[in-house]
Amino acid sequence: MTKLKVFFADCQTRPDYNMLDKLEHIFEELGLNDSIKAGEKVMIKTHFGLYGNTNYIRPAYVRKLVDLVRAAGGFPFVADTASLAYGNERPYGGRTTAPEYLMRAALNGFTQGTLGAPMVIADGYWGVDIYDVDIDGEHIQSVPVAAATLNCDKVILLTHAKFHHMGIAASIKNMGVGMVGKRGKAAVHCPDGMQISQEKCKGVGCSECIPVCPVRCIEVSDTVKIDWDQCVSCGHCASICSNKVGAKAIFMPWSGKDMALRVVENALGVTKSIGHDKFYYLNLAIDISDHCDCVGFGATLVMHDIGTLGSTDPVAVDHATLQAMQGATLNTESSVDQSEFDSLAKRSEAIFEHGLKMGLGTTNYELVKLSWEKTE
Ligand code: SF4
Ligand code: SF4
Repeated sequence: MTKLKVFFADCQTRPDYNMLDKLEHIFEELGLNDSIKAGEKVMIKTHFGLYGNTNYIRPAYVRKLVDLVRAAGGFPFVADTASLAYGNERPYGGRTTAPEYLMRAALNGFTQGTLGAPMVIADGYWGVDIYDVDIDGEHIQSVPVAAATLNCDKVILLTHAKFHHMGIAASIKNMGVGMVGKRGKAAVHCPDGMQISQEKCKGVGCSECIPVCPVRCIEVSDTVKIDWDQCVSCGHCASICSNKVGAKAIFMPWSGKDMALRVVENALGVTKSIGHDKFYYLNLAIDISDHCDCVGFGATLVMHDIGTLGSTDPVAVDHATLQAMQGATLNTESSVDQSEFDSLAKRSEAIFEHGLKMGLGTTNYELVKLSWEKTE
């Protein structure tokens, strides 16, 4: 049996073999030219970055993939999902609804014109357009997969590899957070759920939480009441109440508890939605920061650029990406010194171990370093 491969192209470039050429090289090695059939709908899942962040993936990489998918005969579209309510523009955040996010994506250079393909917020206007996939997880049993995924023949994740307090944040996180609706994001970031202090509610004279509820399950009279059977845990009401009104009558405490494990389980639900063989993973290990692209600033870079890695297995590609980073010299200007980096690497092991345990992927792969010349 052929061993699973992870392809790696470093950042050494020349005029006839630049970073976009290397992306194309990996695309070819993954067999995408042949496996994409005429008219197949291919989602290119990336992250447009919160406005103010400057480390996110440059639109040119996404455009290159769009062109490659189209040249292979497929119908490409570029997607991300709406975020929980947070960010620079509190109280409601800059990526909370589809139009807000698309407007800010344009500020970061992502438009249908620059990308040459439709842009879709895969979980709809409010981020609650989902399809539930049952899994036998240790923390999660039902994964709210972004609904647009279901109509795809293939998904190519183009992920900016960087760090997060849970460890490496790359393909698995792009799926386990980035391809689920808000309930799935809340299950990862706020596992203790919504909480209410009714005595703090300012009553019907306030009512700020009512119009932001996508399912209209809030009633306010003397105090607030939520119909929990209808609530989709989007957190909009909590954000408005806590951050704008300042009442904290509704709040959703953020927590890193078991985050890595929950991200893995969400990712499993995503791959299960249309089948794991429909997914391809490309990690761009450049502009490697110690924060996600969802923060509104470009965090100081942790190390020099590494390159691009690609595989058909999310655990393998993330594992290989971390391995490649472990040989790098750290930036002494960064807040991540060697001991913090070792700690991040150790935390990443929990992602891989749980990925193996849940059947999301494997760390048994062959690393194939691509040469400067394309193989004919
Ligand atoms: S926003 Fe908060 S304080 Fe205002 S009505 Fe809603 S729950 Fe009450
Ligand atoms: S009650 Fe709050 S968390 Fe639940 S759906 Fe409405 S706005 Fe979202």
